[in-house]
Amino acid sequence: MMGPAHSLSGAAAWLGVGAAAAWLENPMPWPVLLAGMLICSGAALAPDLDQKSATISRAFGPLSRALCGIIDTVSTAVYNATRGKGERQRSGGHRTLTHTWPWALFIGGGFSAIAYFGGRWAVLVILFIHMVLAVEGLLWRAARVSSDVLVWLLGATSAWMLVEILDRPGNGADWLFGADGREYLWLGVPIVVGALVHNIGDALTVSGCPVLWPIPIAGKRWYPLGTPHFMRFRAGAWVENAVLMPAFMVLGGAGSLVALGVV
Ligand SMILES: [Zn+2]
Repeated sequence: MMGPAHSLSGAAAWLGVGAAAAWLENPMPWPVLLAGMLICSGAALAPDLDQKSATISRAFGPLSRALCGIIDTVSTAVYNATRGKGERQRSGGHRTLTHTWPWALFIGGGFSAIAYFGGRWAVLVILFIHMVLAVEGLLWRAARVSSDVLVWLLGATSAWMLVEILDRPGNGADWLFGADGREYLWLGVPIVVGALVHNIGDALTVSGCPVLWPIPIAGKRWYPLGTPHFMRFRAGAWVENAVLMPAFMVLGGAGSLVALGVV
C-alpha cells in the first residue's frame, strides 16, 4: 500500500485497540487515544524506511536518507544470511527485515526502553519523530508541497502539546503500566501495532509480505505471506482510495465511539 493508506490503517487500528481496551475495562483517557492514534499512524509508515527511494526517506532530510541506507544494508545482510536454499540472493533489503514481527517487537520495545530511561526529552523526541511521520503519511502530497521545516515545526509543536496534556493527572501518561517511573512505557504499544498493521497492508498487495520470518513456510524463511490471490491488488491501485481508505475511516470512527464510551 502507499503512505496515506498505511497511515490511515494505523490510525484506525489504534482506535480499534482503544475500543478493545474499553471493553477489557482498562479504558484509554482521550489524550492516550489521540496521541496513540497519531503515533500509530506514523509507525505504520516506518517499515518502508528500508529503501532510499521511498517518499518517507525524505521525512528528516539527509538524516533519514542516511538511516535508510543503513537499514537497507542491514536488511540485505540479514536476508542473505538467513535465506533458505530455494531463496535467491538479494541486493536490496526492501520488504525484508523491517516487514517482520520480530522487527515490530524490537522497535516498539526499543522506543519503550528509550522512554523509560530517557525521561521527558526522550518522550518528546519519540513523539516528534512519529508526529512528523504521521503528517507525512496523512497529508502525503500536501506535506511535500510545503517545506520540510514547516512539517518539522508542526511535529515539534504537536509533540510538545501532547506531552503537556498527557502529563496532567488522569490524562494517561501512566496508562496500562502505572506510575512510579513507568509512565510512557505504553508508547511502544502503538509503535508495535503500527508496524504490524503495515505488514498486513503489504500482505494485501501483489508481492506479499514476509511477516512471519524466521518461521519457515514451505521451506522458505522469507515466504511472502498474503491473502488469496483474487484479494490482492497492486500498491497504489484504486482499491486503496476507493475501498480501503473509506473503510478505515468508518472503522476508526466506530472504534473511537466505543473507546470513549459514547456507545
Ligand atoms: Zn512496506
